[in-house]
Amino acid sequence: MTALEQAGFEAFIVGGCVRDLLLERVPKDWDITTNATPEEILAVFPGSVYENRFGTVGVKVPRFLKTTPPKHEHDIIEVTTYRVESGYEDKRRPDEVRFTASLEEDLARRDFTVNALAYGKKEDKEQLIDPFHGQEDLEKKIIRTVGVPEERFGEDALRLMRAVRLFAELRDPQEKDDGKNWRIEEGTLLAIKKLSGNLAHISQERIRDEFSKIVLSPSSKEGIEMLEYSGLLEYIIPELREGIGVTQNLHHIYTVWEHNLRALQTCPSQKLSVRLATLLHDVAKPCTKRGEGYRSTFYNHDHVGARMTTKILERLKYPQAIVKKASLLVDNHLFYYNVGEVTEASVRRLVKRVGLENMDDLMAVRVGDRLGSGVPKAKPYKLRHLEYMIEKVSRDPLSVKMLAIKGTDLIETVGIPAGPKIGAILDVLLAEVIDDKEKNTREILLGRARTLAASDIGELRALAQEKIEEKREAEDQAIRKRHWVE
Ligand code: ATP
Ligand code: MG
Repeated sequence: MTALEQAGFEAFIVGGCVRDLLLERVPKDWDITTNATPEEILAVFPGSVYENRFGTVGVKVPRFLKTTPPKHEHDIIEVTTYRVESGYEDKRRPDEVRFTASLEEDLARRDFTVNALAYGKKEDKEQLIDPFHGQEDLEKKIIRTVGVPEERFGEDALRLMRAVRLFAELRDPQEKDDGKNWRIEEGTLLAIKKLSGNLAHISQERIRDEFSKIVLSPSSKEGIEMLEYSGLLEYIIPELREGIGVTQNLHHIYTVWEHNLRALQTCPSQKLSVRLATLLHDVAKPCTKRGEGYRSTFYNHDHVGARMTTKILERLKYPQAIVKKASLLVDNHLFYYNVGEVTEASVRRLVKRVGLENMDDLMAVRVGDRLGSGVPKAKPYKLRHLEYMIEKVSRDPLSVKMLAIKGTDLIETVGIPAGPKIGAILDVLLAEVIDDKEKNTREILLGRARTLAASDIGELRALAQEKIEEKREAEDQAIRKRHWVE
């Protein structure tokens, strides 16, 4: 800002960062607005990046944000020329962007009063520029559009979601919604309800980014309830809405909808993939429900739910790593564990299926699931014991690398020709060792390999598959028997 001022321009920090400073929160990013044109900004900061057709210049500064990965030498500060927007024929982007010399005009195009604040030097004095009484709304904890709500939402439908996102981020999760907590101003909320259908014009990527922020916010449950109340959820994840009013069996006191949200609220993880999995872990309960009352069942809702999770998250254009991870967690969220009853072999199979690196995350989904059920069932002790068991079996053979023999042993000692058959035999051996780790000796494995060498590769693959699937089927049966009503 000093550099711009020394070059004779005005410069203000603006928007979310000013809001966060006034709230004594650490801003996520810093935006600067100026009366310098993009070319003039570039002249002050050579080496900046200017590619945005809306006239934003990314100025490189030495890294200072805590969240920037250490490998980056720089942070980028977005510097934008004062501008006004008009048109918005398609409800999502302005037809015309025009630069202006007036900071007030720039603030007028911003979404909410608490975001239409600027701070910087004006007439040689540092001050807050607040033409729309954002500071007053900040004190009263009100989210209100700048100007007429319907007009502002009509221009850009993403603002509908930004209002709810801001609510979820600002709302104090410890406080009730009794007028003293953050709220969306009545007229603004009415307009969101009225125009919610416009969200259909917004790209899935932009919806996804706001949705992720809601899921990660301290009031994620209330944020998603607000999405539902305002009619927006229908355009984001309609599948979740199917759980509304769907009652469950004796293991639960809440409906499927309420349980999914409470699970998310109590999930101890701050990872996006884990929180999405927790929110969606029972998404298939409405469509798998059989019967009514306290004996109703939801067979297969874990596996059906995993497929639905993949579909939902792919539709929202989440990266494959997140889609895969969340679906895996939903698929396995029902694992059965009881101290003394579940064998080490069964824990090894669970770890093999889910991956050792994912076990903590699976546990976080389970903790949310348990706390969100409203019925004190699976005691925390059981989960702690399972953690101990996982730790214990993590030293057991869980991958072919941990077998007492290697592929070269099969070639050199048993005399099997190099080729894909080696891997297939190792897979069968691993399945057998997971079942009984005593079998993991060189002698036993070589003996067994000699027998297996007679089978062809198709038979071997079927055998390995069968050994894993057979057990999984048996374990699923056990889950059903125990949780016959789940
Ligand atoms: P965050 O804390 O997530 O950064 P933010 O309010 O700063 O929240 P940004 O997306 O960084 O949100 O946007 C910066 C500022 O730009 C906002 O505070 C607001 O003034 C303005 N703004 C962003 N998106 C819109 C929009 N769709 N319509 C109008 N103004 C917007
Ligand atoms: Mg910001």
